[in-house]
Amino acid sequence: MKIPLPPNEEQRLTALRQYGVLDSPSEQAFDDLTLLAAQICQTPISLVSLVDEARQWFKAKLGFDQPETSRETSFCTYTILTGSAGLEVPDAREDPRFAANPLVTEGEQIQFYAGMPLINPEGHALGALCVMDRKPRVLSPDQWAAMAALGRQTMAQLEICKQALQLSKEVAKRELAEARLSEECRNLAQQQAEAQRLLVVAAKSRLALLSVLEDERRAGKHLRESEERFRQLAEHIDEVFWITDPTLQERIYVSPAYEKIWGRSCVDLVRTSQEWQEAIHPEDREQVEQAVASLKRSGAFDVCFRIRRTDGTERWIHDRGFAVRNNDGAVYRVAGLAEDTTDQRVLEEQIRSAQKMESLGQLAGGIAHDFNNILGGLTGFLYLAKLEAGEQPVLMDYLENIASCSQRAVDLVKQILAFSRQDKPEKEPVRLNLVLLEALKLLRASVPANIRIQTELTEVPMVQANATAVHQVIMNLGTNAWQAMADQNGLLKCELTAGKADAELLIRHPELRPGNYVRLSISDTGCGMDRATLERIFEPFFTTKEVGQGTGLGLAVVHGIMKTHEGAIAVESEPGVGTTFHLYFPELPSQPLPAPVQAAPIARGRGQHILLVDDEAAIACVGKLMLERLGYLVTSQTNPLEALATVQRDPTAFDLVITDLTMPGLNGEKLGRELLQLRPDLPILIATGFSVVMTPRRALEAGFRGLLAKPTSMQTLAETVRLALAPVGGE
Ligand code: ADP
Ligand code: MG
Repeated sequence: MKIPLPPNEEQRLTALRQYGVLDSPSEQAFDDLTLLAAQICQTPISLVSLVDEARQWFKAKLGFDQPETSRETSFCTYTILTGSAGLEVPDAREDPRFAANPLVTEGEQIQFYAGMPLINPEGHALGALCVMDRKPRVLSPDQWAAMAALGRQTMAQLEICKQALQLSKEVAKRELAEARLSEECRNLAQQQAEAQRLLVVAAKSRLALLSVLEDERRAGKHLRESEERFRQLAEHIDEVFWITDPTLQERIYVSPAYEKIWGRSCVDLVRTSQEWQEAIHPEDREQVEQAVASLKRSGAFDVCFRIRRTDGTERWIHDRGFAVRNNDGAVYRVAGLAEDTTDQRVLEEQIRSAQKMESLGQLAGGIAHDFNNILGGLTGFLYLAKLEAGEQPVLMDYLENIASCSQRAVDLVKQILAFSRQDKPEKEPVRLNLVLLEALKLLRASVPANIRIQTELTEVPMVQANATAVHQVIMNLGTNAWQAMADQNGLLKCELTAGKADAELLIRHPELRPGNYVRLSISDTGCGMDRATLERIFEPFFTTKEVGQGTGLGLAVVHGIMKTHEGAIAVESEPGVGTTFHLYFPELPSQPLPAPVQAAPIARGRGQHILLVDDEAAIACVGKLMLERLGYLVTSQTNPLEALATVQRDPTAFDLVITDLTMPGLNGEKLGRELLQLRPDLPILIATGFSVVMTPRRALEAGFRGLLAKPTSMQTLAETVRLALAPVGGE
């Protein structure tokens, strides 16, 4: 049989579940209500039945064993359809709805049923409070009224259950919330602790940071101070301090000395790498590039080169660079120091050339000495030959030719001796104007007519000089000048000016003393000289002229003479334009000119006996013949020891001894001293071609009567011998 359902069965079932009483344990309150219902209605059975989807379950049961029965067999299923009225079945066996119900027909044998629906506040009938009996009967109106009241009480009890359920749910919810809350609190506390810890860390970090900042501030101060020190150093040293990147393309720093030395701006240098390249002399660029390239291999370079300043002047630079490495050993900077070595070089060059001159001078002087002796013989015999030739014109002509040739040889030897400074010319106050005019007169004769000679003379102070030597200087410079202009209509200009040596001159010529100078300048409009030539012109035997044209001695002599005059030479020359030589002579404080010496007539002897000593047989022979021509009696000796023995034998036999200075065995000076030992009043002359050691003063100090220069002219010989024979202290 189909079970009848209330119209809102779904909602009713949902509502029932909200009470949470199905299958819950029995409770006293419900048991009491079934007891009251059974007693009031006088029935053996009373139940609180809750009707769910498939069954009716008993929350309380009195007189009934089963906990539940199926919905099909349930009386209460019909009770819940009655609204609030309730259901009474006086005899189930008579009621078609229950007649076949197993509860009626079998086991329990139920015949009577009365039930009041349990209606909740929303109007759903959840079940019923019922009473049953095993015999047919009916309830009185009072019993029904009591059943209705008990039904309401049962419903109220169910409401309490529902509320208790909701309460416990609330409590559970709250407990959960509380648990969550306390969890949150724990988390919060943890976070707070963490925050606290972080605060401490932050405070510590801040302290550390402050100390780092302080360190940095101190380091910064230190850095600034060291930078300042570096700047002061870099900006005040004469050298140029520079820093570049390793490619050397970009200059990072260059100290201000750069502007002074290079004559270019630091800013330009840092801006363009071109600037650096450009300044290097083109001939030196490759060398500089190679040196810089070597930095990669060796970590350093060291190079000397020339630069061109923007004003056209050149300077010598000594530049050194060093690789600066970082912690990994890689080159990240190149630093260097460049210095101007121009002045140093000039000085070194002067020392070098002075040394070269010195040794060449000694060599040349040695050769000249031997050569001089040969010339002495030659000129002597020539003189004698001319006397013998008498009226033979052809022979005379030959002899004259030999004489002019030998004169040239004498001149040459003079040049060599002058250059080698082995003869120290005697100096006296000289007017350079006069010497210059005299020399130019002589020069004019040899200079081609198409060359003009122009002089610009001002009245200049006198200088302490040897007129012959200065004459020689002018001749040598003048000759070079016209030779340089041989193939053109040139101009040879001579100029004399006076002035004070300025700082630049003194730097260029350290040999000069500060003070006033007379400057003699000789310039030409000739071929000029290139650098390589200019560097060598003062070297003896350096010439660019053809064989026979130049000896290469002219300027070496000029140099030597200027040195003995404590003066200096400066040269300016440009190829194709011309050359100027400036000679600086130290000025002499003004002095009256000495009276000119009158040439004396040849003095002749009166048969006085002269001992002539010379290891060179030819010279001894010529000297003997010349002296005899002058009217003296001559004994000649070539061995100084024999000469000494001769005088020893008879110290009074001779009126005069003339001895050569340089001789093997016993030199002239020693021989002279020995002789003076034998006879202190014996007049002695020392003959010498050149001598560094023997000067006229030294000869006089040694007790000799003087020096006789070789080769000598008849005139000089006669005069020197006359003076030597004259009584001491008067003539
Ligand atoms: P020399 O004249 O015998 O060659 P010097 O010592 O006088 O020897 O000169 C050396 C060299 O210097 C000359 O060969 C020449 O090359 C050069 N020289 C000297 N003076 C001048 C000048 N005025 N102009 C050009 N070159 C000169
Ligand atoms: Mg010359």
